[in-house]
Amino acid sequence: MKIFHGIVVILLAQLFTAAYAADQSVNVYSARKEHLIKPVFAKFEAKTGIKVEYLTGKSPVLLERIKSEGAKTKADIFMTVDAGNLWAAAIAGLLQAYKSQELDKNIPSYLKDPQNKWFGFSIRARTIVYNSKKINPSELSTYENLAEKSWNKRLCLRTSNKVYNQSLVAMLIDQLGESKTEEIVKGWVQNLAVPVFSNDTRLMEGILAGQCDVGIVNSYYYGRLEKDKKHGDLRLFWLNQNTFGVHVNISGAGITKHAKNLENAKKLLDWLSSPEAQNLFADLNLEFPANQSVTPAPLVKAWGSFKHSQKNIAKAGYLQAKAIKLMDRMGYK
Ligand code: FE
Repeated sequence: MKIFHGIVVILLAQLFTAAYAADQSVNVYSARKEHLIKPVFAKFEAKTGIKVEYLTGKSPVLLERIKSEGAKTKADIFMTVDAGNLWAAAIAGLLQAYKSQELDKNIPSYLKDPQNKWFGFSIRARTIVYNSKKINPSELSTYENLAEKSWNKRLCLRTSNKVYNQSLVAMLIDQLGESKTEEIVKGWVQNLAVPVFSNDTRLMEGILAGQCDVGIVNSYYYGRLEKDKKHGDLRLFWLNQNTFGVHVNISGAGITKHAKNLENAKKLLDWLSSPEAQNLFADLNLEFPANQSVTPAPLVKAWGSFKHSQKNIAKAGYLQAKAIKLMDRMGYK
């Protein structure tokens, strides 16, 4: 009897340890790079005692992994860049809604899923970078204007395969309608100085090398050059200030449908929206905090304040297929 009692005690102790371990961790699958999330998660761990386990990879690969792992997935949170990617995860049924007072308070409604399945934690602006030796900023104005003949053989663009451009065109469709957006994209393609670039950094190097005068990039790529003092005569310009404002996108996260550590996942998302986390999360990548009460990093703040589009970023997802087809029709490679 005594032996039996002892076994029960040991079993109970093991059960308790297992429950305790599960209780003290949260698993993240992240398309946001390791050096951008590690310090953020370390701070959360130090504050809460909840261990953040993570693996990183390309967004579509992680998404497929969560899909194929099904109910057995280890992922409690899917973290990625671009609303188009978050939207795809939600549409595939991989995320669950989380209604939170903290997130409602800290994150503006246009930067999150209307169904609360994902939330933006940083903002990136997709705007113009230009050669200040060749262009007076008074010549610059709007996304639409870059389709004008005056920019013939002066424009550089990144490939339309990148979700950043798909989201940009989707948001233009939302703002201006499909036929107007067709005209714009057609004009852009006609104005290309050289074939499309594989990434934003190469595009900026193209401008610096004199291949073109102006291009469209995410603000933080320009920030990286500036931080390394490699930006030369490049400058940022905020587009559409007299109309709908600069197109912005997010990096963000949502809780997976089969999250095992649900309470910890909720705690992590809530905390990510707090001023304490926001500075780290946005500043590490020279992005803008999604929480509007938080000041950006000094380098980013020095770019000045600007008007950005406040249309719900979920539209980038809803209109993604339409945007891809439109770019293809207009010959945007
Ligand atoms: Fe990027």
